Amino acid sequence: MVKAVVGANWGDEGKGKITDMLSKEADIIVRFQGGANAGHTIVNDYGKFALHTLPSGVFYDHTTSIIGNGVALNIPVLFKEVKEIVDRDVPMPKILVSDRAQIVMPYHILFDEYEEERLGGKSFGSTKSGIAPFYSDKYAKIGFQVNELFDEKTLREKLERVAVQKNVLLEHLYHKPALNVDELFNTMMEYKEMVEPYVCDVSAYLYQAIKEGKNILLEGQLGSLKDPDHGIYPMVTSSSTLAAYGAIGAGIPPYEIKKIITVVKAYSSAVGAGAFVSEIFGEEADELRRRGGDGGEFGATTGRPRRMGWFDCVASKYGCRIQGTTDVAFTVLDVLGYLDEIPVCVGYEVDGEVTTDFPTTGKLEKAKPILKTLPGWKSDIRGITKYEELPENCRNYIEFIEEQIGFPITMVSNGPGRDDIIYR
Ligand code: GDP
Repeated sequence: MVKAVVGANWGDEGKGKITDMLSKEADIIVRFQGGANAGHTIVNDYGKFALHTLPSGVFYDHTTSIIGNGVALNIPVLFKEVKEIVDRDVPMPKILVSDRAQIVMPYHILFDEYEEERLGGKSFGSTKSGIAPFYSDKYAKIGFQVNELFDEKTLREKLERVAVQKNVLLEHLYHKPALNVDELFNTMMEYKEMVEPYVCDVSAYLYQAIKEGKNILLEGQLGSLKDPDHGIYPMVTSSSTLAAYGAIGAGIPPYEIKKIITVVKAYSSAVGAGAFVSEIFGEEADELRRRGGDGGEFGATTGRPRRMGWFDCVASKYGCRIQGTTDVAFTVLDVLGYLDEIPVCVGYEVDGEVTTDFPTTGKLEKAKPILKTLPGWKSDIRGITKYEELPENCRNYIEFIEEQIGFPITMVSNGPGRDDIIYR
């Protein structure tokens, strides 16, 4: 059976923890999109880890971890991550890399930096991991698939061709040094050596695995609102964050995805620019940021402070719908235990009209939050394992949100650890 674990919001919902937890029952975990631009934080028996490229199932020795064709594969980052976990006594994970995954080239990272520099104050708040230039090249059909590393003559010719195009931009738009094809080629040969033992025809592998009835998890990065089609365009990421894309980014039939577990966070946080209707500021935001997640809401990749906000029912209802949610995992609820009252955004006012439907970007930018305040529970809910044992106001908060978003909350996460979970 194939399940997808995806985010409903702006990312950082706690997908890593949920995937790590569900990996206990999984045989295969597949990353199907995105790259090393976002991170998952995972706390388990080995310690606390920030993963950027590796799937969150690498900590179990019964699982196979797959980098699907939809991923922006940064080969040195992948192997640095493998080394980091192995150095901390995690057994060497079984890893497979799709022969159709495309490679983040060293110049993608440079272009990302140069473009943010050029845009100055109008930048997208990129993490400068090369993701946007990478996906632009993929769809402009000048990207490099992993299998291309194994045909040196053709590779070299293509590098020369691509460098001509890149160098025009480097010289005239960015006023930066040109690419050196010899150097690039040598780097590609290093990449080839690193990746060679893991290269696999992933769609064929998964076809067989599905036939054998294996349990497969598709792990998404970021969330619905960062999807390039259905999110807050253009302040989105460059690959689809939706479960539907899991079929493409892993190479499996769409009808095999039987469960879509959408991770929804009990309050809001976002990184990068873009409309964020329920955003809060000042001391109120600082306190939530300080107490949030596991050790504060700061980017797992960049360390940047995240923007904070109250729970947004409008955005989350939409985020769950567009994912095709079968189950909601409601996370980091324990963090809210300090509040006397908890505001929740239940509608948007746009041009004097109230809506609970998530609008397109132009309208979203004008939206003002309509807040409703729920009573807090003023206690620490970590360690509770039964739903009935949660304080009444806490259950009321969960049930209110479940009704607003219209999808069943079947899991409640009340701490960062694998076992901090309440099933309903
Ligand atoms: P992801 O990208 O969706 O995997 O999310 P991140 O890893 O960036 O952010 C989630 C953060 O919250 C991590 O630091 C997790 O350890 C932490 N976390 C996940 N679930 C919970 C929870 O239920 N309670 C608390 N306190 N922290 C959690």
